[in-house]
Amino acid sequence: MKDSNFLKENNARHVWHPMAHPADSQTNLPTILTGGRDVFITDVDGHEVLDAVGGLWNVNLGYSCEPVKQAISDQLNALPYYSIFRGTSNDKVIELSYELADFFAPDGLTRAFFTSGGSDSVEVALKLARQYHRIRGEAGRTKFLSLKKGYHGTHFGGASVNGNGKFRNAYEPLLPGCFHIPAPYTYRNPFNESDPAKLAQLCAAALEDEIAFQGAGTIAAFIMEPVLGAGGVMPPHPSFMPMVREICDRNGILLISDEVITAFGRTGSESGARHWGVQPDFMCTAKAITNGYFPFGALMIAGHVAEVFEKDTSGIASIDTGYTYSGHPVGAAAALAALAEIRRLKVHENAAARGKELLGGLKGLQERFEVIGDVRGEGLMCAIELVSDRASKKPSAKDVPLKLQQAAYEDGVMIRVSGNNAIFSPPLIVTSDNVTKILSAVETGLKAVSG
Ligand code: PMP
Repeated sequence: MKDSNFLKENNARHVWHPMAHPADSQTNLPTILTGGRDVFITDVDGHEVLDAVGGLWNVNLGYSCEPVKQAISDQLNALPYYSIFRGTSNDKVIELSYELADFFAPDGLTRAFFTSGGSDSVEVALKLARQYHRIRGEAGRTKFLSLKKGYHGTHFGGASVNGNGKFRNAYEPLLPGCFHIPAPYTYRNPFNESDPAKLAQLCAAALEDEIAFQGAGTIAAFIMEPVLGAGGVMPPHPSFMPMVREICDRNGILLISDEVITAFGRTGSESGARHWGVQPDFMCTAKAITNGYFPFGALMIAGHVAEVFEKDTSGIASIDTGYTYSGHPVGAAAALAALAEIRRLKVHENAAARGKELLGGLKGLQERFEVIGDVRGEGLMCAIELVSDRASKKPSAKDVPLKLQQAAYEDGVMIRVSGNNAIFSPPLIVTSDNVTKILSAVETGLKAVSG
């Protein structure tokens, strides 16, 4: 390895970081990582910290998942690459689709279309939703509805349904025909409604209203995260997604569950839709499918939607989209091994139990630190929202979450900052001791910003 000065200097000189101003890394040196084990990561200066971010919500089985490492290595020696475009397939991708269909069987998601990541899974879902209606003779259904605060990746389709101006404005004009409704975000919403059940009803009513305004026959799909993630972790009331499902059904609109974060256990259930008792028409997955060790994704498709495509004899249902790395055999092998570990360890059960401990601990901190305006969480996705004044809910100054993050890091825990939120999404294998450590480092951070 090159020495630490070389790495620091050349990062500043040559690396442009996603989701950052290109000049930022010249003045604010990023944490340069060189190692990972169990639930810990190590930086170039030899500092080992507990990763309460779980990579990017994806390293759910931690950094020492030997079966996934072994599967990747074995597959590199067997068949390191081949495409699955028309005419070829590979053993691992077939086995994986069989396992995924079984894993998601209660949701009726029996077909898999493989991608290279979350943004790709979203993009294909949007395309196939339009195509589905076209096959059924409803080519006028082209629009998409989604939630404000939602995050659906960075491609033009995903950016168009994203509900945060930050990820849209520099790249406009985006896809026409995309409209957003208020999110069930209890702490801040245009209805000033703090009761989660009532807010869920108001947001569902807003969806109905938008459908009526646009005309149901013009709308292809509604896309949502079962728990809004990157927007700041906003779990809806349990009634919300079932209400959305019913509204979509009544209006002939497909429901895309964007589970790039929530699939495979993070909410405390096997998937976010299952968490709320809903069967979506499409489910976008990526991230934890390979435990983050290989870029890979799977769009899961409900049997009743798939049949519309499969029964077509005119050719209109040909899926004329796909990626060089769709069904990559190394990714498929990694996913197969990760899925087996997810099932063996029942990580969703640990996520539910440790998530309760984490949320409870964060709520305890809220009682002691005025700077915490709100605490939210579902399973092992949690956030605290930092404010400068609880009464007015004025967001904290920009440097406050960063200072908190820095102090927590120095105390041995990596947390993530998004706007005025600190976000926690540790590996799903964390222990109660790990949770205690996360909470004590957050406390250190809170003390640092509370002066
Ligand atoms: N959808 C959701 C809900 C996500 O959280 C993300 C990534 N955080 C994406 C899509 C995009 O995934 P990727 O970064 O793998 O393209």
